Amino acid sequence: MTDIIRLTAAELADKLNAGELSSREATQAHLDRIAAVDGDVHAFLHINEGAIAAADAVDASRAAGEQLHPLAGVPLAIKDVLVTKDQPTTSGSKILEGYMSPYDATVVARARAAGLIALGKTNMDEFAMGSSTEHSAYGPTRNPWDLDRIPGGSGGGSAAAVAAFEAPLALGSDTGGSIRQPAHVTGTVGVKPTYGSVSRYGSIALASSLDQVGPVTRTVLDSGLLHDVIGGHDANDSTSLTDAWPSFAEAAREGARGDVLKGLKVGVIKELPDSGFQPGVAASFRASLALMEQQGAEIVEISTPHFEYGVAAYYLILPAEASSNLAKFDSVRFGMRVTPEGGATVEDVMSATREAGFGDEVKRRIILGTYALSAGYYDAYYGSAQKVRTLIQQDFDQAFSQVDVIATPTAPTTAFKLGERIGDPLQMYLNDLTTIPANLAGVPGISIPSGLAEDDGLPVGIQFLAPAREDARLYRVGAALETALVDSWGAPLLTRAPQLAGGKN
Ligand code: GLN
Repeated sequence: MTDIIRLTAAELADKLNAGELSSREATQAHLDRIAAVDGDVHAFLHINEGAIAAADAVDASRAAGEQLHPLAGVPLAIKDVLVTKDQPTTSGSKILEGYMSPYDATVVARARAAGLIALGKTNMDEFAMGSSTEHSAYGPTRNPWDLDRIPGGSGGGSAAAVAAFEAPLALGSDTGGSIRQPAHVTGTVGVKPTYGSVSRYGSIALASSLDQVGPVTRTVLDSGLLHDVIGGHDANDSTSLTDAWPSFAEAAREGARGDVLKGLKVGVIKELPDSGFQPGVAASFRASLALMEQQGAEIVEISTPHFEYGVAAYYLILPAEASSNLAKFDSVRFGMRVTPEGGATVEDVMSATREAGFGDEVKRRIILGTYALSAGYYDAYYGSAQKVRTLIQQDFDQAFSQVDVIATPTAPTTAFKLGERIGDPLQMYLNDLTTIPANLAGVPGISIPSGLAEDDGLPVGIQFLAPAREDARLYRVGAALETALVDSWGAPLLTRAPQLAGGKN
């Protein structure tokens, strides 16, 4: 059983297609792993009781000789921001406790149609607001590398599930880094696709102009395989691009094989000096750049002067959009209803429900957002933030006329301790320094493990950004560096993760 959970999705798929393994065995192995370690990790909010039946159905179809998707029968964890008709969806909030959606998110429907087996729904910061999963109304998730540390956020559950070998594949959502930063702190791979390239239909909206769904996995190839399943145009999402996309799995395979790094121009941002990063993070980043140089890449210093204002602009634009998106949780249409004592008006019920149903961070952002949008302050705050957003987009356009990809450390520090930043929202927000600009500009980003920090021995990620619609380039470059790094380590980074209490590894 232990061996099964250590296989990548690509390896599992090969064994399933060769008849060496059944989906029931693969699914059961992951459910057993969840039973063994999730008491400690708390990556899951809900386990799908129908998982084994779904696996059996795939096994039966395969036995009957039906033409199946290559990934059919491989298990998948789903961030609880994505609605599912057969399992509850909470988005990490009390206000949606027990909520059952009448439909599947498009990405979930596509995963289901491909025969992926949903293991369950993963923990997250409430409505995807946070960088540590500590804002979940259902208790925090813990980092499998060190259970006293955060697994990143908001998608800490998906990243921890993949890092703890509870699932080979997971879905996340990234509004300002919630796929990439959890990948960074857990030694996994996370991809934020080009805005509009993966459907947002059925992804509970945080900030609609920034949200993007994407994969969280242990290898670049696995992310490409999952991206191929979930991506592409969806008429139900009004911002969905109609492009024909290449295979991202093929791009990852090309990257792993070829000399993609030869002659590749890698931009390093002048305005992000090493001094802004934990020394172990900066050192790991420099080591990855040196390795890329050895393989023929050219490191080019670029200037994106407005990059550092991304956090300030984001924390006006995001709350503004979130305050509007969350207005629908009004005690009438969805979820919880609290009726105060004594002949309450509609307003009283609404306000009591929102008071009881939303956590502190959600309330903070609703207040910030409505303030930034109020008539007297709209131009000063929201309007200015939108101008900064345009400047950041122009910085990227300019930079990508000089380089093929931009590289940054994925986040300023490694996983911090639970409780360390929860009382200091500003510290928490600054954590998003390097991930947010991609969402503001709509460009794709990938985080891959670059090693362990020399100062604290915890995982570090390197982020690559590419121009909009050039997601395939990220898979090629990511897989090329991943191959070079794993060769230099002799084994994938996660083989060095400490044993989990109660675990079988
Ligand atoms: N940490 C960021 C925030 O708190 C990112 C959230 C996200 O990407 N969903 O908003």
